[in-house]
Amino acid sequence: MPLAVKGRYTYSIPEPLEGIVCPGIRVNVQFGGNRMYSGIVFSVHDRKPDSDKLKPIIAVPDTFPLVNDIQLKFWIWMSEYYMCTEGEVMKAALPSDIVIDNYKPRIETFITLANRLSDRELNSILDKLVKAPKQQDALSAYLRLSEYVAGAEPLPVKKSHLLSEIRSTSAVIDSLTAKGILLPVAKEVSRLGIADSFTEPVKNLSQEQGNAHMAIKSIFRDKEIVLLHGVTSSGKTEIYIHLIEEQLRVGKQVLYMLPEIALTTQIIQRLRKHFGAATGVYHSRLNDHERAEIWKRVSSEDVNDGYRLILGVRSSLFLPFGNLGLIIIDEEHDGSYKQHDPAPRYHARDSAIMLAMLHGAKTILGSASPSIESYNNALKGKYGLAELMERYGQIKLPEIVLANTREAYRKKLMVSHFTPELLYAIDDALGREEQIILFQNRRGFSPYIECSECGWIPVCVQCAVNLTYHKGIARLVCHYCGFSIPMPSKCDSCHSSAMVTKGFGTEKIEDEIKIVFPNARVARMDQDTTRNKNSFDKIIKAFEDRQIDILIGTQMISKGLDFENLTIVGILNADNLLNFPDFRAHERSFQLMEQVSGRAGRRQKQGRVVIQTSDPANKIIRLVLRHDYRSLFKLQAEERMTFNYPPFCRMIKINIRHKERERLNYYADLLGKELKEIFGRRVLGPESPVISQIQSWYIKTILIKIEREKPPAKARQFIAEAIALIDKEKGTGSLRIAVDVDPY
Ligand code: ADP
Ligand code: ZN
Ligand code: ZN
Repeated sequence: MPLAVKGRYTYSIPEPLEGIVCPGIRVNVQFGGNRMYSGIVFSVHDRKPDSDKLKPIIAVPDTFPLVNDIQLKFWIWMSEYYMCTEGEVMKAALPSDIVIDNYKPRIETFITLANRLSDRELNSILDKLVKAPKQQDALSAYLRLSEYVAGAEPLPVKKSHLLSEIRSTSAVIDSLTAKGILLPVAKEVSRLGIADSFTEPVKNLSQEQGNAHMAIKSIFRDKEIVLLHGVTSSGKTEIYIHLIEEQLRVGKQVLYMLPEIALTTQIIQRLRKHFGAATGVYHSRLNDHERAEIWKRVSSEDVNDGYRLILGVRSSLFLPFGNLGLIIIDEEHDGSYKQHDPAPRYHARDSAIMLAMLHGAKTILGSASPSIESYNNALKGKYGLAELMERYGQIKLPEIVLANTREAYRKKLMVSHFTPELLYAIDDALGREEQIILFQNRRGFSPYIECSECGWIPVCVQCAVNLTYHKGIARLVCHYCGFSIPMPSKCDSCHSSAMVTKGFGTEKIEDEIKIVFPNARVARMDQDTTRNKNSFDKIIKAFEDRQIDILIGTQMISKGLDFENLTIVGILNADNLLNFPDFRAHERSFQLMEQVSGRAGRRQKQGRVVIQTSDPANKIIRLVLRHDYRSLFKLQAEERMTFNYPPFCRMIKINIRHKERERLNYYADLLGKELKEIFGRRVLGPESPVISQIQSWYIKTILIKIEREKPPAKARQFIAEAIALIDKEKGTGSLRIAVDVDPY
């Protein structure tokens, strides 16, 4: 059932549905009173349950199973590993009450000639139409659009296209149809704007790429997983393309995963160039019809109609693949692969490895700065390791310049939030008509506003966070729940009108860079400017076409994008990356800085990166300066070993929420005590997280660190039992307990 209920339920099969109901098929049933739901059949059996109130299946909406055998196994694995119900996995896997029955094919009318005609016959028809010039026009236009040559197969011509060509109405074509000259034919077409099936051969690999490619293939002979560690712009994508081609050639499907929707725009073009219409793309911006079409095409066995290659974000794991041969996880280190809320709180990289195993497929993890977990697995020999240490075309990695903000402020050299080093680099690039990316990991104008008289700061009414000022809409917005209020003109506390903005986000940078460089064309890419379906494509295309000189953005612009003319990258504030209170903060800052730097100077010449920081001696920044991933790994691995963090232990986090603070504390302590009896000193907390209230729920967390050698299934069972014990308490009210396995 698509619900957060435990277990599976048995229904009887009415006689007319016998033989139709099978595992994986969707059935409409009543559940919990009179509500109707669509469930998925797990198995068909003849063991009548004890309860004699067995409800019947009401209807079977589809003619074939929506979910295949491997998907069912995958769902069950996911619910067990990530400690949620199978129904929660199902809800994530089959978004909205889809699919196939909502799916209405798009029908398009094409125009053809009613009969095969010789040139002579055609000319005589055209002559006869002299008295009907519009019809004559229409027929000539048809002949032109279909590239008509007597004896050859004409190209299909869309009726809508023909009408727009002749600027006329349907009536003209109707007349030609009535005369038996033209024939309208209705055909099903794709909604997904699929390219023609023309394909370009894959690029020849350089020697270094060729070596890595061969290494990957030879590792795959006895290992399932390869980590491809290749510096930015080393040509990892080209190697993937070779591996994809090999899989498609032997009739296998390939799943190519990316952490961010914004990245699909460019990569899809690169892939369709080689693999044409066999390439589908899957992400959260699709509507139900598009989703349904993809679902159908992925499960299709038809080589002409089916998708053989899917490019997608984490939810693409749930598509009904029939025979995957390879899963590629690009930017494998990226935190966006982890789903935080709601359940299943899965990590798409780790889940993809399991999915590949179920298919007997291989997995390739790619990154310029691998996660500590994956690199550790590679060093231990659990994964194979292939490396690319140079950029394609012998272009050097970008030169990194550190700009000391503390000193620049002291010497009064800052212009707004920009150091002289950054301004100089931008100016220089603009002078040569090159492009610039400025990275700031905060959206909005300023992260908070403050009364300069009394220090009052507006906070969200239901979350323990400051409200972010968004100048464009003149409102203060909560980034956790969306709550917003108009920008206040006076302090709530002392009524002074001296409210000032503090810190800066992308919106402010956009405003101020326009003032400093009034002639530059400036654009911004963040959550706020990409709410519309095609907004990513538009911004990226405009940047590619050099209609934008300076692009400002959040982490959205930091990864994977490949721009020819981009030479300067500015990181506006490295400090707030490094000072984040999390054991992965240093790893993440390194990865982010390395990624965003990697956008600079990918084609002709070496790029330059300016990192603004108040602490240029910071050890992580020193490593970024040298692009020194291995030292970062060593440093992080030692730290995590010493303080017992993943990958040297397993972590399970329990989030406890309640609307009343007192009750929360009570239950959190109770659960903590219960868990400590089982796990002893492996239990940390309960404690208040950095953000201790979201959407009027108070929050506490308990962290459990379990040795790698201990059987994880046992631990999960103990935790589930402890939680069940608390849940059984009377009058728990609004208590919510959520388990997060491998939290991120
Ligand atoms: P990465 O995925 O490692 O960041 P890409 O595959 O995007 O690197 O390669 C960087 C640039 O170099 C791209 O523009 C790509 O088209 C080009 N490139 C890489 N390998 C080749 C090759 N073998 N032949 C031609 N161009 C290549
Ligand atoms: Zn005040
Ligand atoms: Zn809020």
